[in-house]
Amino acid sequence: MTPMLTRTAPIPPTGADRCDRCGAQAKIRVVLSGGDLVFCGHHARAYDETIRTMAIEVVESDSPN
Ligand SMILES: [Zn+2]
Repeated sequence: MTPMLTRTAPIPPTGADRCDRCGAQAKIRVVLSGGDLVFCGHHARAYDETIRTMAIEVVESDSPN
């Protein structure tokens, strides 16, 4: 997926970011037209298909855990 508009790069989730669904440490940030959401690894997989459909951009956490 190639964004059509130039925009600032989204910031990868940090240790302070918590999954919007369960509160676990966030592993990915999903950029949507209306804002950002962060998800843990579990919910990233759970919503994988929706994320691929909806997301403008997805950034993964830099940290291995
Ligand atoms: Zn979660």
